[in-house]
Amino acid sequence: MIPDPPQLIASIVQTSPETMRRQARSALDRGADLVELRLDYLHQPTAESIRTLAAEFHNRCVCTLRPADQGGRYVGPETERINLLHAAAAGNPRFIDFEYARIAENAAHPDEIPRGTDGLIVSHHDFIGPPSDPTRLANDIAAIPHCAITKLAWAAQDVAENFRALDLLRTTSTPTIALCMGRAGLLSRVLGRKFGAAATYCSVDVGSESAPGQPTLDDMRECFRWHHIDSDTDLFGLIGWPVAHSLSPDIFNAAFQHHNINAVYLPLPVRPGPEAFTQFLNAVLERPWLGLQGLSVTLPHKQNAFRNCSPPTDPSARRSEAVNTLKFDGPQTEGTNTDAPAAIASIAHTMQCTIEELSGIDVDLLGAGGVARSIAAALAHAGCNVTIYNRTPQRADQLARFCRARSAPWQSRTDRRGRILINCTSVGMWPDVNESPIPADALDPELTVFDTVYNPPQTRLLTDAAARGCRTLPGMDMFIRQAALQFEAWTARPAPTEIMKRAAQAALARFAEKS
Ligand code: NAP
Repeated sequence: MIPDPPQLIASIVQTSPETMRRQARSALDRGADLVELRLDYLHQPTAESIRTLAAEFHNRCVCTLRPADQGGRYVGPETERINLLHAAAAGNPRFIDFEYARIAENAAHPDEIPRGTDGLIVSHHDFIGPPSDPTRLANDIAAIPHCAITKLAWAAQDVAENFRALDLLRTTSTPTIALCMGRAGLLSRVLGRKFGAAATYCSVDVGSESAPGQPTLDDMRECFRWHHIDSDTDLFGLIGWPVAHSLSPDIFNAAFQHHNINAVYLPLPVRPGPEAFTQFLNAVLERPWLGLQGLSVTLPHKQNAFRNCSPPTDPSARRSEAVNTLKFDGPQTEGTNTDAPAAIASIAHTMQCTIEELSGIDVDLLGAGGVARSIAAALAHAGCNVTIYNRTPQRADQLARFCRARSAPWQSRTDRRGRILINCTSVGMWPDVNESPIPADALDPELTVFDTVYNPPQTRLLTDAAARGCRTLPGMDMFIRQAALQFEAWTARPAPTEIMKRAAQAALARFAEKS
């Protein structure tokens, strides 16, 4: 019997039979469909310990004893490895994983390879890049006697390389796992299910991955809701570089779940530079079957996104020449900027005034990067008198010219006169949580202090400002508002902002715990 529906396999990489047993049980209890017992991780594997483990998890396990030259830990003689796999087979596991390279080099005959009750997973791993012809390789593997599942895994440096794995899954007619390793490979690991992947792999916890880029069991089940993905699932994502620590997957996937929307949101790392951006965009537009409906865009691609959908109709995008939201409708790509309206709404809410009443207010803005650009352009348009201070003065001058604001030397930020102070630098962001872009004694009680940094949620600047009696506005407020506007643009449903906020807070708490 071939796995149907697809199986979520948790790899167990413990060094003693006892800890392997405990972790495998926990993974099954927590919702893994199968466990892969990575027997090559055991310190001194014996035939008896391996047979006992396989027998205990029999139809819920895959047994793998990967040799070191294939990316595993086993370093003994091949004859001994085959003997240990025979011991595993005696425990009746569902599958035994065997390396295609050994068969291709005639080191093992398929009829003599120990197998599970459902046969073999015949696997090919490449830690450099994709095979020259994945389809041909997959066909060669599928033709091997007793091969129940063909597995191809290769290292991806960039998200666009995932498309070859998905292309293979869409066209193959035999049970296949095709996935990319590394941080850039998440798309194939999660979305493979939409295209009929026989299975995917996950780690039990952060730090116990058996291959680079494996997501955790909890992320697969709770954040990406892997078991709910089907051929109709729509794709959303975040493109930028880096994107691994973003909160966006947590908040959007929670919002989709709340509204019962059949969609998944993934971090999609796209290298810096306009060429990489355009290449990615062309690759997704050429593949309408991906079901891509929308993208969030972050550093360093907001201006690349603006150029690619020029001229956007959205006035905020035009004013800042930056796009943080892409919506796809067939071949049409619509670009908007939700950072600017979110920042303005956050500020007006905190000042307890309307957006019109912001006109004429003096604002001091620290920083001249991406977020500064959107906020300065929006505030200048609202009629505020904006002064920009930046460590690199040329960037402050440039931004000031761009949005008809003033610039002033970074050192003079302690002598400001404005009613609102906005930190748009990354100073105070994790891990430098004890830093602030301005000394506490330069903060007057009449001031409203807005820190766009949201990790940590309560920055040193906000703590100093609250202690001095200032009104404070945390970056999380703007972050949730800009995400809510994206959600509404993509789905035409009201954004469940409380749920999104709770998901962000939970993700930040997990992040703080791990750090
Ligand atoms: P960015 O384009 O890289 O800009 C970084 C800015 O920080 C530049 O102005 C840079 O000055 C300044 N900077 C960095 N290190 C500094 C230091 N040690 N001393 C003084 N200035 C320093 O980044 P960004 O996208 O604008 O993001 C900036 C912050 O905003 C990040 O913390 C990000 O998380 C946050 N953010 C929040 C939201 C939200 O919704 N709340 C949205 C986007 C971004 P130079 O020009 O001199 O390098």
